[in-house]
Amino acid sequence: MSDENKNIHDFDFDLICEYFSQFERQGPGSPEVTLKALSFIDNLHPESRIADIGCGTGGQTMILAQHAPGYITALDLFPKFIDQLNTSAAQLNLQDKVKGIVGSMENLPFEEEELDLIWSEGAIYNIGFVKGLKEWNRFLKKGGYLAVTEASWFTEVRPKEIQDYWDNAYPEIDTIPNKVAQLQNAGYIPVAFFILPENCWIDNYYQPQTEKIEEFVKKHKENPATEAFISEIKEEIQYYAQYKA
Ligand code: SAM
Repeated sequence: MSDENKNIHDFDFDLICEYFSQFERQGPGSPEVTLKALSFIDNLHPESRIADIGCGTGGQTMILAQHAPGYITALDLFPKFIDQLNTSAAQLNLQDKVKGIVGSMENLPFEEEELDLIWSEGAIYNIGFVKGLKEWNRFLKKGGYLAVTEASWFTEVRPKEIQDYWDNAYPEIDTIPNKVAQLQNAGYIPVAFFILPENCWIDNYYQPQTEKIEEFVKKHKENPATEAFISEIKEEIQYYAQYKA
């Protein structure tokens, strides 16, 4: 594969991991929206079992652990993220409420109907929205909840440039009504949806990256994958700024 054809999944995993481990979050979000989503969930109690899938370094996991009754298993593919998550949990004295484990969302280590709540911010796209909905459903107890964030179009029609960009990056992107219908078709009863405000993307996701990009490029200039990786990051940030509406 030539360099021009590389996409983010082809880059050196260590490089991606090193880059994203610098940040409190690896995806868009905020404590406020985590708590807003949690406010729609009414079945939790101290014995509840919660899974945070694709948890990253645990930005949202710590908020959940501080506000949701129950025990949280947080799972991610990258051991470095899980080490950071478990360190944060210990620092916040939450080690009895949350445990980070290395694993894959394609092969979850839970029993059927074990979980009261599956949480997944900015991560279900890795398995694919519809596939994730279908495969994860069996781990939920009857009456259990799923809370996910998912890249979605706000409008029915879009400028071709941004349509092409996302069709290439994540072909499953769709409008919110279509995403809600997919949830219903996968056996869930839609309870609520809302759009992440801009601060989730800009202040909490892109701005912290912008501040670190030049330093990261300098540190990793010997790695041939750095330039292409960073140029994809910059492209995404620029497209968000231009087409966020
Ligand atoms: N939830 C975190 C947040 O919002 O800050 C992280 C979101 S980040 C965009 C997506 C996460 O999914 C990364 O931490 C990545 O390592 C994880 N991931 C990707 N593929 C995965 C898989 N197959 N199984 C488990 N985690 C995976």
